[in-house]
Amino acid sequence: MSSVSSAVTPENLLRPEVLALHAYHVPPAAGMVKLDAMENPYLLPQALRDDIARLVADAEINRYPDAGAHQLKAAIGRVTNLPAGMDILLGNGSDEIIQLLALAVAKPGAVLLSVEPSFVMYRMIARFAGMKYVGVPLAEDFSLDLKTMLEAVKREQPALVFLAYPNNPTGNQFDAEAIKQIIQVAPGLVVVDEAYYAFARDSFIPLLGQYPNLLVMRTFSKLGMAGLRLGFLAGAPAWLGQLEKLRLPYNVGVLPQLVAAKLLEHHDVLLAQAERIKQERTVLLAALASIGGVHVYPSDANFILFRVARATQIFEGLKQRGVLIKNLDGGHPALADCLRVTVGTPDESRKFVAALQDTINQLA
Ligand SMILES: *Cc1c(COP(=O)(O)O)cnc(C)c1O
Repeated sequence: MSSVSSAVTPENLLRPEVLALHAYHVPPAAGMVKLDAMENPYLLPQALRDDIARLVADAEINRYPDAGAHQLKAAIGRVTNLPAGMDILLGNGSDEIIQLLALAVAKPGAVLLSVEPSFVMYRMIARFAGMKYVGVPLAEDFSLDLKTMLEAVKREQPALVFLAYPNNPTGNQFDAEAIKQIIQVAPGLVVVDEAYYAFARDSFIPLLGQYPNLLVMRTFSKLGMAGLRLGFLAGAPAWLGQLEKLRLPYNVGVLPQLVAAKLLEHHDVLLAQAERIKQERTVLLAALASIGGVHVYPSDANFILFRVARATQIFEGLKQRGVLIKNLDGGHPALADCLRVTVGTPDESRKFVAALQDTINQLA
């Protein structure tokens, strides 16, 4: 080995923005009541699972997947009521689509703008794609601060704006009229991220034809397909045709294509599960609100944000009692003493609430 190559280290070879990143942390959850990642807790009906088993048994996994994913795209078009003339682009989860959008616009100095607190991947991907990231603070109640936002858009001239609708981790849905104003003043693309569409009140998909710089992104992860890794971007072919060049040809495998297309034939089953989760959300919101010292935020998603004194100790107490939620304390200043719990089954809610009450009593 030459002395030159032995001197190569990650620190002197890699880009500084990569070295400065912290890897996205996924905690171990084996055997726990898992309420940390907004997964759908319900299994599929047995008959549908048997259908899927047969499809998988016959799948041609020796072949590369259909690079155009025609069957799956047709199924997605059907269930989303895509306006005429609009197209879709598929991602290996919507995280991959965020990355693809950032890669596409990352000219030197290009800005990705979002709100804070919001989905951490916007900032993380902006950084590693070499973009400048700007996070505009939300109002104290986590609504959009429209004046500040419009000023920031005019000042920063972002190539990309991401708005999660509903927002993660706050759970609220921003004012649609405010978002429309932002779309109108934005000099670049505005991506409305509808990861939680199944639990939300409305959508921007019907508006796609009205704003040439609007794109809508969705994932099926929160609707019961987190393990398949499938997201999509909807918008005008003029944009998506360009972005397609950056999509790696086989980013969605044979099995996810087959299984997702089958599941979307039964979109009603998934939406019925989402409906149960929404009902349980109402129950859980009330249960949390009735616990002294807990401040609950309203939710249009399948999770609930709440604030409680000594949140990190509460989080650890829950973990010791076998319940895993998300600790947001210490992340963003606006989320001091905040925890986020996914809405699961009624049984999971009972275990969570009992463990929370027990932990609070023990710390008192
Ligand atoms: C979960 C989530 C995603 C990512 O979903 P994947 O498709 O699983 O990558 C995107 N945006 C928001 C706001 C999310 O909460």
